Amino acid sequence: METPDEKLTKILHLEAEKCQDRAVFGGLARYVGTWLQEAEAAFGPEAADWIQAVADQLHAYSSLPDSAARHEAITALSELLQTTPPPRPSQREDTKETVPAPSAPTEIKSAPATPPPPRGRPRREHPAEQPAPIPSVPTHAHTGIASPITALQGVGPQQAKRLAKLGIHTIHDMLHFFPRRYDDYSQLKPINRIVYGEDVTIIAQVWDAGVRQTRGGSSIFKATLSDGTGFVEATWFNQRYLADRIKRGQQIVISGQVDEYLGHLCFNSPEWEPLEQELLHTARLVPIYSLTQGIHAKWMRRLMKRTVDYWSKRLPDHMPDSVREAAGLMDLDTATLQIHFPDDQELLKRARYRLAFDELFVLQIGLLHRRHLYRSTPGEALPVDDATLYDFIHNLPFELTQAQQRALQQIVADLRSDQPMNRLLQGDVGSGKTAVAAAAMALTVAAGAQAAMMAPTEILSEQHYQTLGRLLEQMPGHSPTIRLLTGSVTGQEREEIYTGLANGSVDVLVGTHALIQKGVQFKNLALAVIDEQHRFGVRQRAALRQKGLRPEGSPEGSPQRAQPEGYDPHLLVMTATPIPRSLELTIWGHMDVSVIDEMPPGREPVTTRLLLPTERERAYNFVRHQIEKGHQAFIICPLVEESEKVEAKAAVDEHKRLQKYIFPELRLGLLHGRMKGEDKEATMARFAQGELDILIATSVVEVGIDVPNATVMLVEGADRFGLAQLHQFRGRVGRGEHASYCLLVSDSVSPEAQERLQAVEATNDGFALAQKDLELRGPGEFLGTRQSGFPDLKLANVTDLQLVEAAREAALRFFETDPELADPDNRLLSQRVAQFWKGKGEVS
Ligand code: ADP
Ligand code: MG
Repeated sequence: METPDEKLTKILHLEAEKCQDRAVFGGLARYVGTWLQEAEAAFGPEAADWIQAVADQLHAYSSLPDSAARHEAITALSELLQTTPPPRPSQREDTKETVPAPSAPTEIKSAPATPPPPRGRPRREHPAEQPAPIPSVPTHAHTGIASPITALQGVGPQQAKRLAKLGIHTIHDMLHFFPRRYDDYSQLKPINRIVYGEDVTIIAQVWDAGVRQTRGGSSIFKATLSDGTGFVEATWFNQRYLADRIKRGQQIVISGQVDEYLGHLCFNSPEWEPLEQELLHTARLVPIYSLTQGIHAKWMRRLMKRTVDYWSKRLPDHMPDSVREAAGLMDLDTATLQIHFPDDQELLKRARYRLAFDELFVLQIGLLHRRHLYRSTPGEALPVDDATLYDFIHNLPFELTQAQQRALQQIVADLRSDQPMNRLLQGDVGSGKTAVAAAAMALTVAAGAQAAMMAPTEILSEQHYQTLGRLLEQMPGHSPTIRLLTGSVTGQEREEIYTGLANGSVDVLVGTHALIQKGVQFKNLALAVIDEQHRFGVRQRAALRQKGLRPEGSPEGSPQRAQPEGYDPHLLVMTATPIPRSLELTIWGHMDVSVIDEMPPGREPVTTRLLLPTERERAYNFVRHQIEKGHQAFIICPLVEESEKVEAKAAVDEHKRLQKYIFPELRLGLLHGRMKGEDKEATMARFAQGELDILIATSVVEVGIDVPNATVMLVEGADRFGLAQLHQFRGRVGRGEHASYCLLVSDSVSPEAQERLQAVEATNDGFALAQKDLELRGPGEFLGTRQSGFPDLKLANVTDLQLVEAAREAALRFFETDPELADPDNRLLSQRVAQFWKGKGEVS
């Protein structure tokens, strides 16, 4: 006799010829009832999930839009049929022989292959009491958690392809495919207490049930339910097969929103399940997963439940027990189970916390390990004496702020240590980072070594060169030789500099990328400073570090770092982007951080005004007025998302328009990201020298130069920029003694945009704005595309400072016990860290 699956396979063959849903009279969905009956008789309740999965797909088939979709569905269904469990208890031969052989044969365990277990029980039972084997258990359980998803029963190549679209390739991926959200159907109520509009679950007996045909040709299945307190009706449209599933006298569970029809409360197409089954889709916090075509919600939930039930217990926990206990974390298998199928909100919260903590803990261990590696290379302890430090500070033309002093003290301690410094110096534009760096460089030179500072543009290098010259020349007892090296320095002059660096007669080198060119050989570089660090790639930073000290007599021109015993220089990187603490720990967790959170005294805060598009004329008049007073202005063009090219074109047009119609009598310059480096430099230089009145620029060009005479920053399309970026723009004015202004012209009058911009108007605190920006836009947007290599975190929220700090604390404490992750007990953690950081070797 033909088995039900063979019968259905034949039907599908027939259907596949035309894909018109004609193989069964009235459509394949009509066949669901027959299928359910026959398949249950043939395969028994242990195959219930598989039977239901086929039924779901049959049901869905008849509502597919076109023959292409139907064709695809037939393929999937045929595949599903090929994973048939053979009839009754029996020798279920494994269909999964293709699972790759294990690489670790020692781990072979015999897996429970037969017989398949009865279907789940109501969840009120303690899970431990459930019979162990589960249909999804692959026979080769030893292939473990890394097995392809096809090792799970009911997942054929077609479904696997679809799951792959969701990023699920292995069982491990499946367990880590967390719900998008949850529908809370945990509220169980008697029928007489349900209220219109609420999400609720009832458990009731079916009093009556039947299908009715409508005139339009569709069907309505209606069931009358009672739980002794009252009656309620539930209705499903075009699900004729339910007549075979929901029968009079049966106990079922209904979850959904309470509706109303002709004055009676009712349910329309609610979720439902028979009561005797373990409840997945009703009466609980129901997980909602992201789906894709061909992956249905119920199918996914059932597959997930089987996977989680079997595999969560087998998930190796990489978290050391000591850490887990100290942080009060849930164990991994409970957390995995609870995040997918939470028993209640509290357990869900704890599960999420545990798994988010995991992610950040691994991240932090990775960062600390990185820091450990930096520190393990030998550094040169510089003999910095207090008298020199004192002298330098007292000869400065101003008094250092508290924050500058604090940062300098931290740096000095690093310079004296024989571990190379690896420090980020953070401070708002104008907070005086250069002076701090200059002090560190002066001390290095006084200690008999060389120092270098790299900046992203020629003009900025030039500016630093002059500043450093002024500050260092007042050092009593020393007059260090400072040289500038940029792309424009060539020929004889460049040769001289190379020679001076190699023989030690040049003490300080300032410049652009030219510093990391091959010919540059220092005699004893002990301190490398990088300004505007985000403008440099990881490799460039590493290249500068590699110009470090090398033992006497190392052959000239040899490849850098040829001598493994060479020293790494102390490294100081500077950034003007204030970074909220939680992000700082996440991105810069491998570095030490000093913050200058105080402005030099007497700085007039920049006055910021928010203007509507209709007030643009006023803004122009204001600009003109300032220029008449002998000052200069910046105008920033709106951010264009599409591309730098489009943005550049917009800027060119804007420049033309302003020159021709608005400011014909003034000298306007233009700066955009598509210009050649030397043209940019030339324009910036003209502006700095006062040969231009207004500089029109796009956002890609950070005008990282000091032009004290510039007093107005006009930002067009201000609503398109992040708050932190607006604050950066604003920092380009107010650098002299003149009162300065920032005018934000917004294209958008939406209340949200206005509110965001009002925050910039209201505060000059870069850190507060950065925090707000991060909260509003999330870390991806906040950091922009420049910071690649940002860790991929599924659950952890990097704006959650408390969580980030907890993970950091735990990682620090753990790290002290095993910095090399060499203890065999920590093998799993070490693997996990390696996996997480794979391909992320590019972080700073
Ligand atoms: P940034 O942090 O943006 O690099 P700079 O180092 O360029 O800031 O400093 C901005 C200006 O402030 C410079 O003109 C510098 O001379 C001046 N400055 C720095 N520190 C102080 C201070 N403690 N008191 C007064 N002026 C200072
Ligand atoms: Mg600076």
